[in-house]
Amino acid sequence: MEFNTICVHGSSHSYDKTGSVSVPIFQTATFAHPGVGQSTGYDYSRVQNPTREYLEETMARLEQGKEALAFSSGMAAISAVMELFFPGDHIICSDDLYGGSHRLFHHINAKNGLSFTSVNTSYLEQIEAAIRPETKALFVETPTNPMMQVTDLRKTAELAHAHGLWLIVDNTFLTPYLQRPLTLGADIVVHSGTKYLGGHNDVLAGFAIANDPQICERLRFVYKNTGACLSPFDSWLLIRGIKTLPLRMDRQEQNAGKIAVWLTKQSKVRQVFYTGLTDHPHYALSKQQASGFGSMISFEVDSRETAERILNRVSLIHFAESLGGVETLITYPMLQTHAEIPAEEREAKGITDKLLRLSVGIEDAADLIADLDYALGQD
Ligand code: PLP
Repeated sequence: MEFNTICVHGSSHSYDKTGSVSVPIFQTATFAHPGVGQSTGYDYSRVQNPTREYLEETMARLEQGKEALAFSSGMAAISAVMELFFPGDHIICSDDLYGGSHRLFHHINAKNGLSFTSVNTSYLEQIEAAIRPETKALFVETPTNPMMQVTDLRKTAELAHAHGLWLIVDNTFLTPYLQRPLTLGADIVVHSGTKYLGGHNDVLAGFAIANDPQICERLRFVYKNTGACLSPFDSWLLIRGIKTLPLRMDRQEQNAGKIAVWLTKQSKVRQVFYTGLTDHPHYALSKQQASGFGSMISFEVDSRETAERILNRVSLIHFAESLGGVETLITYPMLQTHAEIPAEEREAKGITDKLLRLSVGIEDAADLIADLDYALGQD
């Protein structure tokens, strides 16, 4: 079955005898047993719930994984993956990561005995130089948030496996519609389902997907016993969101392409970071390993005053954290998503008071450009 069809029809499993076209929401915490020692296959909703199971099967098919687990947020999914490691283990991660992942690694996982080294994972030699005997995994975002650096997933997976490491990929920015890391050699894929998969800025969700049966079993054990599972209603919202994922992402990417080109022509814009621009250093690699560029754009303006002016003057575009939904959002990474990353580290990556991040939605591009033009312009 092709990707668009899986998005609409989801899992092959049918939980319904009425002919309902929409998947039922099994809003129950527990399930009655037919008798002693008997089970319907469902015992307790933290462990299994039919609505969530339908969503998980859909996600596994979309990412071409064996199993997917649906969590209550992206951070819950990443936290569960980190529970697969033991005190003393070392993990190499991208040096430009979502701020929440950075906080989790350095302030929570580190306290439990894990250590992390951040490198620019676009350079294989930097990854290789950071590998130690106790290294167990690489954690990569590609493109990264917010600087849009791209990592060569095939080559990084080969390097990881040559050293007996797992490659974990946060695929939030592109989703399986545009990039399928498991098919390129990754061992685990994680998502903030809050973003493109949910797609409407109205629900939090997360996913972890893997192929190796042992990884799947260990992840399911963590999942079942730490309990951050997605609720039946939120699972249904994700099932509904995924039906239109390809349509939304196509439209978002078309809009992003137009806006990125327009931004490059503005005198107050110094630099535009969008993998779909032909002069992006990883344009060719992006084309090779993904079927599209997505709709995340970061751009640097000439001063902090210009950045604040834009944030204060946009009206159609919302000044808000998050990304991937149908509404266009603009974010100030320095004060929002990346606020707690030490200033020196942040500025070395280019996350300064002049950097803004745009998540382009499905509105008309002309209206979005008019809003940005007004926000950038003189009084
Ligand atoms: N990964 C990336 C790339 C993100 O941008 C985010 C959130 O912005 C997360 C993970 C965390 O997801 P959530 O907010 O659903 O917990």
